Amino acid sequence: MTDIGLHSVTGRPTWRGLVVPYLTVWSGEQIDLTKRPFAYLTGDDGRERLSIAHTEGSALAADRVLLEQRDGFGLLWFSGLNNPGVGEPLWAQVHGLRQRECMVGRHCQVCGNPFPSGRPVTFLVPEQDVPKDCGPFETPHPPVCDTCRPWSLMQCPHLREQATFVWVTARAYRPTSVLADLYIRDRQTLGISEDLGVTLPLGHDLLRYAVVKQLLVTIRGYTVERAQRTGFAWQGDRP
Ligand SMILES: [Zn+2]
Repeated sequence: MTDIGLHSVTGRPTWRGLVVPYLTVWSGEQIDLTKRPFAYLTGDDGRERLSIAHTEGSALAADRVLLEQRDGFGLLWFSGLNNPGVGEPLWAQVHGLRQRECMVGRHCQVCGNPFPSGRPVTFLVPEQDVPKDCGPFETPHPPVCDTCRPWSLMQCPHLREQATFVWVTARAYRPTSVLADLYIRDRQTLGISEDLGVTLPLGHDLLRYAVVKQLLVTIRGYTVERAQRTGFAWQGDRP
């Protein structure tokens, strides 16, 4: 097993010698599937909006509205639990509220530390996401601080699978869209139809029916630098 001693560098939890990014979901944060979130609509026609409750077994525990948490944009976020470091990391899953914290608060997605105010921030994004003319573009990937740059390149399983990434450095960016699941009432059956993994701009009317999972920001006025991989070689278990 490779242990590159990152814990002392970043202060992040490690698992089998690998730093677990601040964004990563841990198994101890998953909702029990037998208590799967239940979406329902409240309010009058035209003003109705989505709420979330848990089911316990087959019975709706309407008094346990555990997940409803609307933010400053009026968005209902899927919060899950917040137990980083409990259980095992689920490497491919992003914790929605920590992702939002990183985007809004300018925190590093690996160590969770905030960037100094007034300083540029750097994002690691697939080269194909960046327009050739360096025009504005959206990304769901929060910034990475200078300290965590090498580790993000070495460790992220997504990065190892994709060909080319670039560092994008910008002084400013702003939230523009969200990744969400929609639960909309079918007017004929009165049931709720699901439309999962939809990207919608902030302010869109359908966001009343959305459970938001990630915040996307638009970056403009940036510089681009090819991300160079290091000579780090994987040994032992792969996450
Ligand atoms: Zn960092």
